[in-house]
Amino acid sequence: VTGEQTRGMDMTHIELTVLGCATPHPLPDRPCSGYLVRGGGATVWLDTGGGTCAELQRHTSLDDVDLIWVSHLHPDHSTDLLAAWNHYVNADNPPRPVVAGPPGWAGQADAFLGRPGAMAEVFDIVELGDGQVVKAGGLTLTAFRMRHGVPTFGVRIEDADGNVLAYSADTAPCDALGVLAADADVLVAEVGADEPHPGHCTPEDVAAAAIASRARWVLLTHLAPGLTPDAAEERARRAGLRHFGIAAPGLHIQTPSPA
Ligand SMILES: [Zn+2]
Repeated sequence: VTGEQTRGMDMTHIELTVLGCATPHPLPDRPCSGYLVRGGGATVWLDTGGGTCAELQRHTSLDDVDLIWVSHLHPDHSTDLLAAWNHYVNADNPPRPVVAGPPGWAGQADAFLGRPGAMAEVFDIVELGDGQVVKAGGLTLTAFRMRHGVPTFGVRIEDADGNVLAYSADTAPCDALGVLAADADVLVAEVGADEPHPGHCTPEDVAAAAIASRARWVLLTHLAPGLTPDAAEERARRAGLRHFGIAAPGLHIQTPSPA
């Protein structure tokens, strides 16, 4: 019995809902970076860009979130963590979600609020390092240090049946991107650059990384402000990428791979 057949029989999967992918700031009906990931009995909020706290509540309750992963502290990936904090600190008997972020994230958020220990009041704090593993229900999340202007952690998410969803966070092409995406069912990959850039990928960069890592399906996201979805699609296709889509708020996909 192959892995594919096993997965078909028991029907487990990892689901992804796009909450937003705008940069550098949210627009009406277009939150910044954020994704809702569900699988293995766990609910994970991946990146808390501006606007995603409200958008997440179209799909689930903040009280059902087990893990919040903040890839880095650029505002288009992080600011709604403070909105979430304001929910939990004002709730009666709130759950204590784990928040995983770059080293020092909690102290920086505390300082912003002017309230020492604020994050630890409501969150279980994890400071990420390269290769660090974080568990959420039946999901295993492995952190990868990416190539970006500030400490940034992409993530490879696996369930017990071998489904794999990988998220690049923000990054220029780098070895970590290939390892994170190796044989992934779904690679969520940023296209934050229109032309070669030290901290972001172009459509051609994503196509090359996805092909080399044998990712089965790719979601192009976080498109550079000057890059239209049509142009990103055309350029990725010309660079040899075959199985992919373009992110938009509300888009829902699941492993093994979209049809
Ligand atoms: Zn960034």
